[in-house]
Amino acid sequence: MMKKIIISKKDINSFYKGLKEEFTVYGVKEKEKGFYVFDETDEFADPLNDYIPTILPPKKYLFPQQETLLRFDTQPHPDIQPVIESKKQILFGVRPCDIHGINLLDKIFSSDHEDINYTHKRAETVIVGMDCLRPCYEHAHCASVGCLDVDEGYDIMITDIGNNFYISTNTPMGEAIIEKYANSIEASNEDKDRFEKLIKERKDKFEMKFTTDVSNLPLLFKNADNDPIWDELNDRCLGCGRCNIVCPTCYCFDVFDCMELNMESGERCRQWDACTLNDFAVVATGENFRSTRGQRLRHRFNRKFNYLMTKHNTSFCTGCGRCSRSCPVSIDLVETVNAVIKNNKAEVK
Ligand code: SF4
Ligand code: SF4
Repeated sequence: MMKKIIISKKDINSFYKGLKEEFTVYGVKEKEKGFYVFDETDEFADPLNDYIPTILPPKKYLFPQQETLLRFDTQPHPDIQPVIESKKQILFGVRPCDIHGINLLDKIFSSDHEDINYTHKRAETVIVGMDCLRPCYEHAHCASVGCLDVDEGYDIMITDIGNNFYISTNTPMGEAIIEKYANSIEASNEDKDRFEKLIKERKDKFEMKFTTDVSNLPLLFKNADNDPIWDELNDRCLGCGRCNIVCPTCYCFDVFDCMELNMESGERCRQWDACTLNDFAVVATGENFRSTRGQRLRHRFNRKFNYLMTKHNTSFCTGCGRCSRSCPVSIDLVETVNAVIKNNKAEVK
């Protein structure tokens, strides 16, 4: 049973700064009006309480946009050295939807074939969550995909209960950090009651935006291959890949070699790829298995609500709304899902 404690609002900044003695700490800052990013910040950022999802999710510190996997030499003898980089880091202020995103990446990169570049980074990462008590912006649909509440994948959760922050530790590491760096006191019965009331009340504040339960989506999408929505989206989508790049659960990458000019040594690297890009499904003969933008978007939606959901029994959309916010032609995830539900509802018993 982990401890329930509080940290006063005036003490949160010294807690944040203290962590920097031992860890690289990534917090949230406002990059430009209304747009937030995770970055190394000197102080606990004021907007942390109210920030809307960052431009990129914090997965960038576990699965960077580009990273070196190995270095090789061909002379005087062939030699290959793996490159596995990790450091003690804290992601501070991660919202429940993004904690769910990291939990899903944990599943993907640890099951079947372990991805050691990811798992080494993850093992050295502490996650300090920031709870949501009200909807953050119009694109969010976390409650509709079961991602408002989170019970694993974080070390500490911070909840704003008014004058103080209510702190729930979830791991021995979280406890140790609070013990070492926080000026904290045990939560009183009044604090606990206030916390429980806020958590209970928030349920009614979050709208269920899908017109069916999320558990019905795999069957609906399975039968929606010929849905007219894909032709409609084919005409609108630009195939730009932004929806993939901002998504906390997209994990596809491309691997390529960079040779030195001497052509004897080099690096093997990977970088994020995007299934909505034209050449994503091109194979060696030049055939493209998903040559139209509509086919590629159909694939992307099936990844979130059918293929991976069927395999792992959980939605691979966390409801963060980043794809809808960043799409240059306003293709909206909730509208698309509801169109598929409407056109295929006869399939759901
Ligand atoms: S599909 Fe869109 S809303 Fe869902 S997790 Fe990815 S970016 Fe967020
Ligand atoms: S962001 Fe919008 S336009 Fe770009 S690939 Fe995704 S759906 Fe298409």
